[in-house]
Amino acid sequence: MNVELISVGTELLLGNIVNTNANYLSRKCAELGLSLYYQITVGDNKKRLVNVLKECYKRSDIIILTGGLGPTEDDITKETVAEVINRELVPDEESKKRIKAYFDFRNTSSDASGISANNWKQALKIEDSIVITNDNGTAPGYIVEVMDTAVLKKSTGKGKRIILLPGPPSEMIPMFEKSIFPYLKQLQDTVFVSKMVKICGIGESKAETQILDLIEGQSNPTIAPYAKSGEVHFRVTASAKDTEEANRMLEPLLDELKKRFGDHIYTMNEEETLEEVVVKLLHQKKLTLATAESCTGGLFTGRIVNVPGASDVLKEGYITYSNGSKMHLVGVKEETLEVYGAVSEQTAGEMAEGAAKAAGTDTAVAITGIAGPDGGTSLKPVGLVYVSCYVKGNVVIRECHFRGDRQKVRDQTVISALDLLRRNI
Ligand code: ATP
Repeated sequence: MNVELISVGTELLLGNIVNTNANYLSRKCAELGLSLYYQITVGDNKKRLVNVLKECYKRSDIIILTGGLGPTEDDITKETVAEVINRELVPDEESKKRIKAYFDFRNTSSDASGISANNWKQALKIEDSIVITNDNGTAPGYIVEVMDTAVLKKSTGKGKRIILLPGPPSEMIPMFEKSIFPYLKQLQDTVFVSKMVKICGIGESKAETQILDLIEGQSNPTIAPYAKSGEVHFRVTASAKDTEEANRMLEPLLDELKKRFGDHIYTMNEEETLEEVVVKLLHQKKLTLATAESCTGGLFTGRIVNVPGASDVLKEGYITYSNGSKMHLVGVKEETLEVYGAVSEQTAGEMAEGAAKAAGTDTAVAITGIAGPDGGTSLKPVGLVYVSCYVKGNVVIRECHFRGDRQKVRDQTVISALDLLRRNI
Protein backbone atom coordinates (compact mmCIF):
# COMPACT_ATOMS: atom_id res chain seq x y z
CA MET A 1 0.00 0.00 0.00
CA ASN A 2 1.26 3.47 -0.64
CA VAL A 3 0.98 6.35 1.73
CA GLU A 4 1.39 10.09 1.37
CA LEU A 5 1.94 12.77 3.99
CA ILE A 6 0.39 16.23 3.95
CA SER A 7 1.69 18.67 6.54
CA VAL A 8 -0.67 21.62 6.92
CA GLY A 9 0.57 24.92 8.31
CA THR A 10 1.78 28.23 6.96
CA GLU A 11 4.42 28.36 9.71
CA LEU A 12 6.05 25.30 8.11
CA LEU A 13 6.28 27.07 4.74
CA LEU A 14 7.78 30.16 6.33
CA GLY A 15 10.46 28.10 8.00
CA ASN A 16 9.29 29.13 11.46
CA ILE A 17 9.14 25.53 12.61
CA VAL A 18 10.87 22.38 11.46
CA ASN A 19 8.62 19.67 10.06
CA THR A 20 9.47 17.05 12.64
CA ASN A 21 6.07 15.38 12.14
CA ALA A 22 6.95 14.42 8.57
CA ASN A 23 10.30 13.10 9.74
CA TYR A 24 8.68 10.98 12.46
CA LEU A 25 5.84 9.71 10.25
CA SER A 26 8.19 8.81 7.39
CA ARG A 27 10.21 6.61 9.74
CA LYS A 28 7.07 4.96 11.06
CA CYS A 29 5.72 4.31 7.55
CA ALA A 30 9.02 2.70 6.59
CA GLU A 31 8.80 0.55 9.71
CA LEU A 32 5.31 -0.51 8.64
CA GLY A 33 6.54 -1.34 5.16
CA LEU A 34 4.31 1.27 3.53
CA SER A 35 5.62 2.86 0.36
CA LEU A 36 5.92 6.60 0.77
CA TYR A 37 6.49 8.43 -2.51
CA TYR A 38 5.39 11.97 -1.72
CA GLN A 39 5.42 14.39 1.19
CA ILE A 40 3.63 17.69 0.75
CA THR A 41 3.57 20.81 2.87
CA VAL A 42 0.74 23.24 2.30
CA GLY A 43 -0.25 26.47 4.07
CA ASP A 44 -3.50 27.16 5.89
CA ASN A 45 -5.27 27.92 2.62
CA LYS A 46 -8.41 26.09 1.69
CA LYS A 47 -8.11 26.31 -2.08
CA ARG A 48 -4.58 24.97 -2.13
CA LEU A 49 -5.40 22.24 0.36
CA VAL A 50 -8.33 21.13 -1.83
CA ASN A 51 -6.00 20.90 -4.85
CA VAL A 52 -3.38 18.96 -2.94
CA LEU A 53 -5.96 16.56 -1.47
CA LYS A 54 -7.51 15.82 -4.85
CA GLU A 55 -4.10 15.09 -6.30
CA CYS A 56 -3.04 12.82 -3.42
CA TYR A 57 -6.36 11.05 -3.32
CA LYS A 58 -5.93 9.90 -6.91
CA ARG A 59 -2.57 8.27 -6.40
CA SER A 60 -2.43 7.08 -2.78
CA ASP A 61 -4.09 4.38 -0.68
CA ILE A 62 -3.49 6.23 2.56
CA ILE A 63 -3.15 9.95 3.18
CA ILE A 64 -1.94 11.16 6.57
CA LEU A 65 -2.54 14.83 7.34
CA THR A 66 -1.13 16.65 10.34
CA GLY A 67 -2.06 20.12 11.57
CA GLY A 68 -5.02 22.42 11.15
CA LEU A 69 -7.37 20.60 13.52
CA GLY A 70 -7.41 23.34 16.13
CA PRO A 71 -10.34 25.56 17.07
CA THR A 72 -9.40 28.72 15.17
CA GLU A 73 -10.55 30.06 11.82
CA ASP A 74 -7.36 29.09 10.02
CA ASP A 75 -7.70 25.46 11.13
CA ILE A 76 -9.34 24.08 8.01
CA THR A 77 -8.15 20.50 7.59
CA LYS A 78 -11.24 18.61 8.74
CA GLU A 79 -13.69 20.84 6.85
CA THR A 80 -11.64 20.61 3.67
CA VAL A 81 -11.23 16.82 3.77
CA ALA A 82 -15.00 16.44 4.36
CA GLU A 83 -15.70 18.66 1.37
CA VAL A 84 -13.32 16.83 -0.96
CA ILE A 85 -14.80 13.42 -0.21
CA ASN A 86 -18.38 14.69 -0.02
CA ARG A 87 -19.09 13.97 3.60
CA GLU A 88 -20.86 16.04 6.23
CA LEU A 89 -19.49 17.17 9.57
CA VAL A 90 -21.69 15.72 12.31
CA PRO A 91 -21.67 16.16 16.11
CA ASP A 92 -19.75 13.59 18.10
CA GLU A 93 -21.04 13.24 21.64
CA GLU A 94 -17.94 11.48 22.94
CA SER A 95 -15.66 14.29 21.71
CA LYS A 96 -18.00 16.83 23.31
CA LYS A 97 -17.69 15.06 26.65
CA ARG A 98 -13.91 14.85 26.39
CA ILE A 99 -13.57 18.54 25.53
CA LYS A 100 -15.72 19.45 28.52
CA ALA A 101 -13.72 17.16 30.80
CA TYR A 102 -10.45 18.63 29.46
CA PHE A 103 -11.51 22.19 30.24
CA ASP A 104 -13.05 21.24 33.60
CA PHE A 105 -9.74 19.69 34.56
CA ARG A 106 -7.78 22.75 33.48
CA ASN A 107 -10.40 24.95 35.09
CA THR A 108 -10.38 27.48 32.22
CA SER A 109 -13.37 29.69 31.71
CA SER A 110 -13.65 31.57 28.46
CA ASP A 111 -17.46 31.67 28.55
CA ALA A 112 -20.16 30.80 31.02
CA SER A 113 -19.83 27.07 30.33
CA GLY A 114 -16.04 27.32 30.63
CA ILE A 115 -15.44 26.62 26.94
CA SER A 116 -15.31 29.08 24.07
CA ALA A 117 -17.67 28.57 21.14
CA ASN A 118 -14.95 27.68 18.66
CA ASN A 119 -13.73 24.83 20.86
CA TRP A 120 -16.99 23.05 20.12
CA LYS A 121 -15.90 22.97 16.48
CA GLN A 122 -13.56 20.18 17.60
CA ALA A 123 -16.56 18.10 18.66
CA LEU A 124 -17.66 17.77 15.02
CA LYS A 125 -16.45 14.68 13.22
CA ILE A 126 -16.40 13.71 9.61
CA GLU A 127 -19.47 11.53 8.94
CA ASP A 128 -18.69 7.79 9.37
CA SER A 129 -15.14 8.39 10.55
CA ILE A 130 -13.34 6.72 13.43
CA VAL A 131 -12.52 9.26 16.12
CA ILE A 132 -9.04 9.01 17.63
CA THR A 133 -8.97 10.40 21.14
CA ASN A 134 -6.33 12.92 22.09
CA ASP A 135 -5.11 12.51 25.68
CA ASN A 136 -2.89 15.57 25.49
CA GLY A 137 -5.07 18.19 23.88
CA THR A 138 -8.57 18.99 22.66
CA ALA A 139 -8.35 18.20 18.95
CA PRO A 140 -9.30 14.56 18.24
CA GLY A 141 -7.90 12.78 15.21
CA TYR A 142 -9.89 10.87 12.60
CA ILE A 143 -9.59 7.86 10.35
CA VAL A 144 -11.84 8.13 7.32
CA GLU A 145 -12.27 4.89 5.41
CA VAL A 146 -13.52 5.16 1.86
CA MET A 147 -14.85 1.85 0.64
CA ASP A 148 -17.25 2.68 -2.21
CA THR A 149 -17.33 0.16 -5.01
CA ALA A 150 -15.53 2.45 -7.43
CA VAL A 151 -12.71 3.09 -4.96
CA LEU A 152 -12.44 -0.59 -4.01
CA LYS A 153 -12.01 -1.55 -7.62
CA LYS A 154 -9.16 0.90 -8.14
CA SER A 155 -7.43 0.19 -4.86
CA THR A 156 -6.86 -3.56 -5.08
CA GLY A 157 -9.82 -4.24 -2.84
CA LYS A 158 -8.52 -2.43 0.21
CA GLY A 159 -10.12 0.97 -0.19
CA LYS A 160 -8.61 4.31 0.70
CA ARG A 161 -7.99 5.94 4.03
CA ILE A 162 -7.51 9.51 5.10
CA ILE A 163 -6.02 9.99 8.53
CA LEU A 164 -6.14 13.37 10.26
CA LEU A 165 -3.94 14.16 13.24
CA PRO A 166 -3.27 17.38 15.18
CA GLY A 167 -0.08 19.34 14.52
CA PRO A 168 1.65 19.51 17.92
CA PRO A 169 4.07 16.56 18.06
CA SER A 170 3.31 16.09 21.77
CA GLU A 171 -0.28 15.25 20.74
CA MET A 172 0.30 13.66 17.35
CA ILE A 173 2.99 11.14 18.36
CA PRO A 174 1.12 9.49 21.28
CA MET A 175 -2.01 9.24 19.09
CA PHE A 176 -0.05 7.68 16.27
CA GLU A 177 1.69 5.20 18.57
CA LYS A 178 -1.45 4.18 20.42
CA SER A 179 -4.04 4.09 17.64
CA ILE A 180 -2.75 4.71 14.12
CA PHE A 181 0.29 2.44 14.10
CA PRO A 182 -1.71 -0.68 15.14
CA TYR A 183 -4.49 0.29 12.73
CA LEU A 184 -2.10 0.54 9.78
CA LYS A 185 -0.23 -2.58 10.85
CA GLN A 186 -3.32 -4.75 10.62
CA LEU A 187 -3.89 -3.55 7.04
CA GLN A 188 -0.56 -4.99 5.97
CA ASP A 189 -0.29 -8.63 4.90
CA THR A 190 3.38 -8.76 5.80
CA VAL A 191 5.39 -7.66 8.80
CA PHE A 192 8.68 -5.79 8.56
CA VAL A 193 11.43 -6.40 11.06
CA SER A 194 14.59 -4.36 11.04
CA LYS A 195 17.83 -4.25 12.95
CA MET A 196 20.26 -1.38 13.00
CA VAL A 197 23.86 -2.49 12.78
CA LYS A 198 25.88 0.39 14.22
CA ILE A 199 29.53 0.65 13.32
CA CYS A 200 32.32 3.03 14.33
CA GLY A 201 36.02 3.26 13.77
CA ILE A 202 35.70 2.82 10.01
CA GLY A 203 34.84 5.44 7.37
CA GLU A 204 31.54 5.56 5.52
CA SER A 205 32.85 4.82 2.04
CA LYS A 206 35.14 2.05 3.27
CA ALA A 207 32.25 0.45 5.15
CA GLU A 208 30.01 0.65 2.10
CA THR A 209 32.66 -0.79 -0.19
CA GLN A 210 32.92 -3.76 2.12
CA ILE A 211 29.28 -4.64 1.54
CA LEU A 212 28.75 -3.52 -2.06
CA ASP A 213 28.05 -7.09 -3.14
CA LEU A 214 25.41 -7.41 -0.43
CA ILE A 215 23.76 -4.13 -1.42
CA GLU A 216 23.77 -5.02 -5.11
CA GLY A 217 22.34 -8.48 -4.58
CA GLN A 218 19.67 -7.43 -2.08
CA SER A 219 15.95 -8.08 -2.37
CA ASN A 220 14.60 -9.44 0.90
CA PRO A 221 16.20 -8.78 3.39
CA THR A 222 17.35 -5.34 2.29
CA ILE A 223 20.31 -3.41 3.59
CA ALA A 224 20.48 0.39 3.64
CA PRO A 225 23.44 2.47 4.86
CA TYR A 226 23.01 5.65 6.92
CA ALA A 227 26.04 7.82 7.57
CA LYS A 228 26.19 9.69 10.84
CA SER A 229 29.01 11.94 11.99
CA GLY A 230 31.81 9.50 12.84
CA GLU A 231 29.60 6.43 12.58
CA VAL A 232 28.00 4.25 9.93
CA HIS A 233 24.67 2.55 10.48
CA PHE A 234 23.21 -0.21 8.32
CA ARG A 235 19.48 -0.82 8.53
CA VAL A 236 18.76 -4.43 7.69
CA THR A 237 15.08 -5.20 7.02
CA ALA A 238 13.19 -8.37 6.21
CA SER A 239 9.53 -8.69 5.30
CA ALA A 240 7.68 -11.92 5.99
CA LYS A 241 4.32 -13.21 7.05
CA ASP A 242 5.28 -13.11 10.73
CA THR A 243 8.02 -11.78 13.02
CA GLU A 244 9.66 -15.17 13.62
CA GLU A 245 10.09 -15.78 9.92
CA ALA A 246 11.43 -12.25 9.37
CA ASN A 247 13.95 -12.76 12.21
CA ARG A 248 15.03 -16.08 10.69
CA MET A 249 15.57 -14.36 7.35
CA LEU A 250 17.67 -11.64 8.98
CA GLU A 251 20.01 -14.01 10.78
CA PRO A 252 22.36 -15.02 7.90
CA LEU A 253 22.77 -11.41 6.79
CA LEU A 254 23.50 -10.24 10.34
CA ASP A 255 26.06 -13.05 10.71
CA GLU A 256 27.69 -11.96 7.47
CA LEU A 257 27.92 -8.36 8.69
CA LYS A 258 29.44 -9.56 11.98
CA LYS A 259 32.01 -11.52 10.00
CA ARG A 260 32.90 -8.54 7.83
CA PHE A 261 32.95 -5.80 10.46
CA GLY A 262 33.90 -7.69 13.63
CA ASP A 263 34.45 -5.43 16.60
CA HIS A 264 33.72 -2.31 14.56
CA ILE A 265 30.09 -3.16 15.35
CA TYR A 266 29.21 -1.74 18.73
CA THR A 267 25.52 -2.65 18.81
CA MET A 268 22.64 -4.06 16.78
CA ASN A 269 20.04 -2.40 18.93
CA GLU A 270 18.53 0.62 17.20
CA GLU A 271 17.88 2.46 20.46
CA GLU A 272 21.36 1.96 21.93
CA THR A 273 23.96 4.73 21.62
CA LEU A 274 27.73 4.46 21.66
CA GLU A 275 27.99 6.18 25.04
CA GLU A 276 25.43 3.76 26.48
CA VAL A 277 27.53 0.83 25.29
CA VAL A 278 30.64 2.38 26.87
CA VAL A 279 28.96 3.12 30.20
CA LYS A 280 27.47 -0.39 30.23
CA LEU A 281 30.93 -1.92 29.65
CA LEU A 282 32.52 0.21 32.39
CA HIS A 283 29.72 -0.89 34.69
CA GLN A 284 30.07 -4.57 33.84
CA LYS A 285 33.81 -4.46 34.39
CA LYS A 286 33.45 -2.34 37.51
CA LEU A 287 35.78 0.34 36.14
CA THR A 288 35.73 4.02 37.03
CA LEU A 289 36.45 6.83 34.58
CA ALA A 290 38.03 10.29 34.55
CA THR A 291 38.36 12.62 31.58
CA ALA A 292 40.72 15.39 30.51
CA GLU A 293 39.50 17.40 27.54
CA SER A 294 41.12 20.20 25.63
CA CYS A 295 39.57 20.94 22.21
CA THR A 296 36.28 19.19 23.04
CA GLY A 297 35.87 21.29 26.20
CA GLY A 298 33.58 18.85 28.00
CA LEU A 299 31.69 17.41 25.00
CA PHE A 300 32.98 13.91 25.69
CA THR A 301 32.10 14.09 29.37
CA GLY A 302 28.67 15.47 28.42
CA ARG A 303 28.00 12.43 26.25
CA ILE A 304 28.90 10.12 29.12
CA VAL A 305 26.65 12.10 31.46
CA ASN A 306 23.78 11.69 28.94
CA VAL A 307 23.56 8.08 30.06
CA PRO A 308 21.43 7.44 33.15
CA GLY A 309 23.61 5.80 35.80
CA ALA A 310 26.80 7.50 34.56
CA SER A 311 27.53 8.65 38.11
CA ASP A 312 28.46 5.08 39.03
CA VAL A 313 31.42 5.15 36.67
CA LEU A 314 32.35 8.78 35.96
CA LYS A 315 34.30 10.32 38.81
CA GLU A 316 35.92 13.52 37.54
CA GLY A 317 36.21 15.52 34.36
CA TYR A 318 38.91 18.13 33.76
CA ILE A 319 38.69 20.76 31.06
CA THR A 320 42.34 21.45 30.40
CA TYR A 321 42.16 24.05 27.67
CA SER A 322 45.36 25.93 28.53
CA ASN A 323 48.87 24.60 28.95
CA GLY A 324 48.75 25.73 32.58
CA SER A 325 45.67 23.65 33.28
CA LYS A 326 47.20 20.63 31.56
CA MET A 327 50.11 20.92 34.00
CA HIS A 328 48.39 21.75 37.26
CA LEU A 329 45.16 19.74 36.84
CA VAL A 330 46.43 16.55 35.24
CA GLY A 331 50.19 16.77 35.72
CA VAL A 332 51.46 17.11 32.14
CA LYS A 333 55.20 17.93 32.32
CA GLU A 334 56.30 21.39 31.26
CA GLU A 335 59.06 19.81 29.25
CA THR A 336 56.57 17.67 27.31
CA LEU A 337 54.57 20.73 26.35
CA GLU A 338 57.73 22.64 25.34
CA VAL A 339 59.30 19.84 23.31
CA TYR A 340 56.25 18.23 21.71
CA GLY A 341 53.54 20.87 22.06
CA ALA A 342 50.03 20.74 23.53
CA VAL A 343 48.70 18.82 20.54
CA SER A 344 50.92 15.78 20.57
CA GLU A 345 50.90 12.11 21.29
CA GLN A 346 53.07 12.67 24.37
CA THR A 347 50.78 15.32 25.88
CA ALA A 348 47.66 13.21 25.19
CA GLY A 349 49.26 10.24 26.94
CA GLU A 350 50.31 12.25 29.99
CA MET A 351 46.85 13.86 30.18
CA ALA A 352 45.12 10.47 30.35
CA GLU A 353 47.52 9.01 32.89
CA GLY A 354 47.46 12.21 34.93
CA ALA A 355 43.65 12.40 34.92
CA ALA A 356 43.36 8.82 36.18
CA LYS A 357 45.91 9.52 38.92
CA ALA A 358 44.36 12.83 39.97
CA ALA A 359 40.88 11.32 40.16
CA GLY A 360 41.97 7.92 41.44
CA THR A 361 40.15 6.05 38.65
CA ASP A 362 40.84 2.80 36.79
CA THR A 363 40.46 4.43 33.38
CA ALA A 364 40.72 7.85 31.78
CA VAL A 365 40.21 9.41 28.39
CA ALA A 366 42.12 12.48 27.22
CA ILE A 367 41.66 14.62 24.16
CA THR A 368 43.89 17.29 22.65
CA GLY A 369 43.67 18.64 19.12
CA ILE A 370 43.18 21.53 16.71
CA ALA A 371 39.46 22.02 16.06
CA GLY A 372 40.02 25.11 13.87
CA PRO A 373 39.22 27.18 12.00
CA ASP A 374 42.53 28.81 13.11
CA GLY A 375 45.56 27.42 14.86
CA GLY A 376 46.66 24.89 12.24
CA THR A 377 50.17 24.69 10.77
CA SER A 378 51.59 22.55 7.96
CA LEU A 379 52.93 20.12 10.54
CA LYS A 380 49.86 20.21 12.76
CA PRO A 381 46.87 21.03 10.55
CA VAL A 382 43.31 21.77 11.63
CA GLY A 383 41.60 18.46 12.32
CA LEU A 384 44.65 16.82 13.91
CA VAL A 385 43.51 15.32 17.20
CA TYR A 386 45.14 12.94 19.67
CA VAL A 387 42.81 10.81 21.70
CA SER A 388 44.25 8.72 24.47
CA CYS A 389 42.94 6.13 26.81
CA TYR A 390 44.39 4.92 30.10
CA VAL A 391 43.25 1.56 31.45
CA LYS A 392 44.88 0.22 34.61
CA GLY A 393 48.43 1.24 33.81
CA ASN A 394 48.29 0.98 30.01
CA VAL A 395 48.03 3.99 27.75
CA VAL A 396 46.79 3.74 24.16
CA ILE A 397 46.95 6.77 21.87
CA ARG A 398 45.12 7.31 18.61
CA GLU A 399 46.13 9.99 16.10
CA CYS A 400 43.14 11.24 14.08
CA HIS A 401 42.82 13.53 11.08
CA PHE A 402 39.31 14.90 10.80
CA ARG A 403 37.75 17.09 8.14
CA GLY A 404 35.00 19.65 8.52
CA ASP A 405 34.28 22.72 10.57
CA ARG A 406 35.04 23.19 14.24
CA GLN A 407 31.85 21.50 15.39
CA LYS A 408 32.31 18.51 13.09
CA VAL A 409 35.91 18.00 14.19
CA ARG A 410 34.84 18.09 17.83
CA ASP A 411 31.90 15.72 17.24
CA GLN A 412 34.04 13.19 15.39
CA THR A 413 36.64 13.43 18.13
CA VAL A 414 34.09 12.47 20.76
CA ILE A 415 32.98 9.42 18.75
CA SER A 416 36.58 8.37 18.24
CA ALA A 417 37.31 8.73 21.97
CA LEU A 418 34.23 6.72 22.92
CA ASP A 419 35.29 4.06 20.44
CA LEU A 420 38.85 3.96 21.75
CA LEU A 421 37.64 3.52 25.30
CA ARG A 422 35.13 0.84 24.22
CA ARG A 423 37.88 -1.17 22.55
CA ASN A 424 40.27 -0.92 25.47
CA ILE A 425 38.09 -1.88 28.36
P1 ATP B 1 -3.84 23.11 17.73
O1 ATP B 1 -5.03 22.52 18.39
O2 ATP B 1 -2.68 23.23 18.70
O3 ATP B 1 -4.13 24.39 16.98
P2 ATP B 1 -3.55 21.94 15.13
O4 ATP B 1 -3.87 20.56 14.72
O5 ATP B 1 -4.44 23.02 14.62
O6 ATP B 1 -3.39 21.98 16.69
P3 ATP B 1 -1.53 23.53 14.03
O7 ATP B 1 -2.29 24.74 14.51
O8 ATP B 1 -1.42 23.34 12.58
O9 ATP B 1 -2.11 22.22 14.67
O10 ATP B 1 -0.10 23.51 14.69
C1 ATP B 1 0.04 23.76 16.08
C2 ATP B 1 1.52 23.68 16.43
O11 ATP B 1 1.96 22.35 16.27
C3 ATP B 1 2.44 24.50 15.53
O12 ATP B 1 2.54 25.83 15.91
C4 ATP B 1 3.74 23.75 15.71
O13 ATP B 1 4.37 24.15 16.91
C5 ATP B 1 3.28 22.32 15.81
N1 ATP B 1 3.33 21.67 14.49
C6 ATP B 1 2.37 21.69 13.55
N2 ATP B 1 2.74 20.98 12.47
C7 ATP B 1 3.97 20.49 12.73
C8 ATP B 1 4.90 19.68 12.02
N3 ATP B 1 4.60 19.21 10.82
N4 ATP B 1 6.07 19.37 12.60
C9 ATP B 1 6.35 19.86 13.83
N5 ATP B 1 5.53 20.62 14.56
C10 ATP B 1 4.35 20.94 14.04
